[in-house]
This record gives sequence, structure tokens and C-alpha cells, in this order.
Amino acid sequence: MNQIQITTFDMIKQVGLRGIFKHIKYKEPDLYEKIQGCHGTRFVERLYNFVYGMREVRKCIECNLNPVKFKSFDKGYAFFCGPKCVATNRAHKQKKTNTNRERYNCDKPSQNKDIDKKRKATLIKRYGTSNLAKIRWLKKK
Ligand SMILES: [Zn+2]
Repeated sequence: MNQIQITTFDMIKQVGLRGIFKHIKYKEPDLYEKIQGCHGTRFVERLYNFVYGMREVRKCIECNLNPVKFKSFDKGYAFFCGPKCVATNRAHKQKKTNTNRERYNCDKPSQNKDIDKKRKATLIKRYGTSNLAKIRWLKKK
């Protein structure tokens, strides 16, 4: 970060995100112009790109084609363009498997006997059968 970026960041901390638009627009017109020159659809996105020196449109880390959504100033940009890319990303898959192994001692929650028992018990309680294929109203859909 350069000096103006650090100053802006401190300003955000002092004023807060709620009041930062008016503060910069009316009290720091030069800075306002600079921020407006950054890319982004909303002021907060342009502000984020200004503070973090982002010059290019962020793209999905999986397909590297589609732009990703801006979430918020604190969260920044999403990593993926959509659920399809999340599902195909190897690192994400591995992370999911690791979590499942850690928590349930298997690769998928459905492989855990306790979870499967609980799932079946819920089906019996709600629909009177543990077999999904036997539930008539679901078949109609
Ligand atoms: Zn993608």
C-alpha cells in the first residue's frame, strides 16, 4: 500500500463504512475523483479496489473466465463465479474431504453410520418410511 492508500484506509477506520461515501465526496474531492476512476459498480467496490490497488477485474479462480461478485469491503471478492466452479475446484473438494474426515471419520457424511441412522429416523418420523422412493408426493414432483 502506498501513502494515500494507507491514509484512505485509516479514514475508513475512523469514519466507518456507513459514512465514508459522504465524507470522501464532500471533504476529500481529489480523493473522490481518484476512487471514482477505479473499476466497480458501486462506490464501496471502487473504494476497495483503490485501497488494495486492484486494477483488473477479478476473475473466477477455477475457470479464469467469468468475473466474480464483490461481496463487501471486509470480505472483498468471491473466489468462484458460481456453484459449478466451486464443485469442480480440486482444492475445494480436498478441503471438503479433509473436513469430513476430521469431523465424521469418512469422506462423505452419508458414509457415516450415525448420520445415516439419523437421516433415516428423520424420514420415518416425517413420512413414515425411510425409503425416499416410497414417498408418493415427492414422486409426483
Ligand atoms: Zn468459474
